[in-house]
Amino acid sequence: PPPPFFFPAYPATPAPLWSRGLGDVYKRQVVVGWGDGGTSQELRHQHLRLFVSFFGGDIFIFNHIFIAFHLIIRNFNPLIITQMENRRVRVRFAPSPTGPLHIGGVRTALYNYLFAKKHGGDFLLRIEDTDQSRFVAGAENYIVDALSWCGIHIDEGVSAGGSKGPYKQSERKAIYRQYADQLIESKLAYYAFDTPEELTEMRERMKSAGVASPQYNAITRSGMKNSLTLPTEEVRARINRGDKYVIRIKMPRNEDVKLEDIIRGWVSVNTNNLDDKVLFKSDGMPTYHLANVVDDYLMGITHVIRGEEWLPSAPLHVLLYRSLGWESVMPKFAHLPLILKPDGNGKLSKRDGDRLGFPVFPTNWTNPETGEVSSGYREGGYY
Ligand code: GLU
Repeated sequence: PPPPFFFPAYPATPAPLWSRGLGDVYKRQVVVGWGDGGTSQELRHQHLRLFVSFFGGDIFIFNHIFIAFHLIIRNFNPLIITQMENRRVRVRFAPSPTGPLHIGGVRTALYNYLFAKKHGGDFLLRIEDTDQSRFVAGAENYIVDALSWCGIHIDEGVSAGGSKGPYKQSERKAIYRQYADQLIESKLAYYAFDTPEELTEMRERMKSAGVASPQYNAITRSGMKNSLTLPTEEVRARINRGDKYVIRIKMPRNEDVKLEDIIRGWVSVNTNNLDDKVLFKSDGMPTYHLANVVDDYLMGITHVIRGEEWLPSAPLHVLLYRSLGWESVMPKFAHLPLILKPDGNGKLSKRDGDRLGFPVFPTNWTNPETGEVSSGYREGGYY
């Protein structure tokens, strides 16, 4: 039987074949290879390389000429493996202003920047300041200044402006609530009224029952005060009288969430290992997870390139894209390995720098509370 084709409707008037060069990222990118539908990733890549070497390209980029494309493809009887959206490459660096920019953060920014340049796309700077308790005065200016000194030019973002702003999450507060509500309406999230004491009590109870790291999850949620356990009228009454609540994701039971990380390959996590993360806090602010996904979606981000410490959160983000109906435009993920201590044991810290005599910050940083100065590469005369 002929292989399946996943094309949407063919356009009525096809545009000329390969009318633009490979560098033009506005075009639809189609990655193709031969296969039987069950081919492993490695095999697929072999097929792809073969196909690409035959046509002498890197990635096959077609204009909207599906008829011509279909004809070519038919002759070679391939299976279309991935069809990327017709989108301009857009990446973002999204630091939280909690202190000076660590050299690991500079590297993440650099990789994003270089990727954007390579593909003729956009590099955005977004400030993720939803956690007001960790806010540090001067950190945002430091980040902007440090990137500028490094020659990492921002196309769009807090200091550069742009059409998808504001680019600081605290200024986007009004945007997030509707998405939390959407998740509640579709029963993928719920209200939780538990007090800090009740949460502690639950954790203690679980610990004494032998659970090493107790979580608010599919098992424990049934014994807590939330809109899944309380009668609807009580939930309404509590909200109306102004009781404090958070909105949590209703993590499905026993589902494998898979994502293909550009660096790590396929990552699969069972939802039984994930908890009902808070998406919206009682202070009216979203948490990082919700804000990050909503912003990446609204800002048209195509590739999320970030530190590996965020890999454990990626399955939750995939579920959020799915639950919000955005899976078809979900960015591709690349989680970068962290910069480690010279002995390889743990993340490189400021203390390692002090101990071994090199800066771990791009420029000098003065702690606004203690006045302590941490040395930077710029003032250290490195470049
Ligand atoms: N705000 C997060 C951080 O400071 C960004 C993580 C991400 O890029 O998604 O690391």
